[in-house]
Amino acid sequence: MAQTHLGLNRARRVTSLLPLLRTAIPGPRSRALARQLRRYESRNITFISEHWPIFWERAAGANVWDVDGNRYLDLTAAFGVASVGHGNPHVIAALRQQAGKLIHAMGDVHPNRLKLQLARELVALTYRRNARVIFANTGAEAVEAALKTAAIHTGRPGVIAFTGAYHGLTYGALAATARNHFRQPFAKQLGRFITRCRYGVVPGKPPKNCGAVIVEPIQGRAGIIVPPDDFLTGLRRYCDRYGLVLIFDEIYTGFCRTGQWFASEHWGVMPDLICIGKGMAGGFPMAACVGHSPVMDSWPESDGEAIHTSTFLGNPLGCAAALAAIGEMKRLKLADRARQLGEYIQARLPVRGKGLMLGLPVANPAKLCEQLLQRGILALPEGDVIGLTPPLTITRRQLDFAIGNIAKLCR
Ligand code: PLP
Repeated sequence: MAQTHLGLNRARRVTSLLPLLRTAIPGPRSRALARQLRRYESRNITFISEHWPIFWERAAGANVWDVDGNRYLDLTAAFGVASVGHGNPHVIAALRQQAGKLIHAMGDVHPNRLKLQLARELVALTYRRNARVIFANTGAEAVEAALKTAAIHTGRPGVIAFTGAYHGLTYGALAATARNHFRQPFAKQLGRFITRCRYGVVPGKPPKNCGAVIVEPIQGRAGIIVPPDDFLTGLRRYCDRYGLVLIFDEIYTGFCRTGQWFASEHWGVMPDLICIGKGMAGGFPMAACVGHSPVMDSWPESDGEAIHTSTFLGNPLGCAAALAAIGEMKRLKLADRARQLGEYIQARLPVRGKGLMLGLPVANPAKLCEQLLQRGILALPEGDVIGLTPPLTITRRQLDFAIGNIAKLCR
């Protein structure tokens, strides 16, 4: 208990700190660790250069400390995950409490009650009622669950996906992902069930075997691209007309990121299936596919052997973290906060996007990110922009610092 209070106090004290650099960046400890990592991790994973990366030691709110004692301001929320702030004290408390009771249960056999609580909460947040959940551990797995659900429902294998799409890198999700960088080495092993159409334009008549459309309501990794206003409403009509299952991949856009609980709310469109992940559990790996019952109930009742499941499905720690994170989104009104802070940034920088899912088009995003790192600001390139997707708890003071530095470097 004492530890929980310590955690709370410490997190409260550090919620609005600016960067403080004590060493060259990356510092000597980060460099030494990078050299060691290079020996043990597959060389394709962590990018290592003279200027990159720093090794994270701890994080709180929108601040990150590295192993050399340098403090940074995080404009990435670590891939859009730390929406409720790094080390959110309520998430930490929930994890601590749950870890003392039950770390792992038997997802599809003997479950834990938190799985029920979280499923009920996810249904309430999305469809309100008459919906069902399939839990997953990563976004890509949530996409796999959605693709399988659509196939079970329609019996048709074909799926329409869009240019620029990013849905994850497992084989089913990778088939729907657009970028050749990820696809090319595995092209011969990829399923051929995808028809690629232009993002932002409602496709022409679907191919005969088509059963579903998968789309990001706002594209993230392609460069924070907001589609024309009639796109998602048009897709809904299109799917209704041709009997297709409409899947929204809200893994990036969900959980208040864009200034609404889910980005689909900007256009008032309900899909048949929603993929969620990233910000859902305050940093714990957790994802899900939530679907309208008329589609979801195409899955047969389990006869004791689920057709689709996984060892860690509905993990109690993940459920506890997600329930706490969702509680924080409500308590702190993070959708409103994202909208207001997004407007604040839009008034000061020529960015595109919605809420705190913004992108600033620049000539060389990777170079700008390196320059920002030298000033203690963590940012990532997303297509032709640098992404501005900070924790939704970031303060105006912190944003002003970031905006000032970005403006100076872009001048
Ligand atoms: N879908 C979208 C829209 C994403 O942005 C991502 C990750 O960036 C994924 C799916 C894949 O999620 P994960 O990396 O958790 O598998």
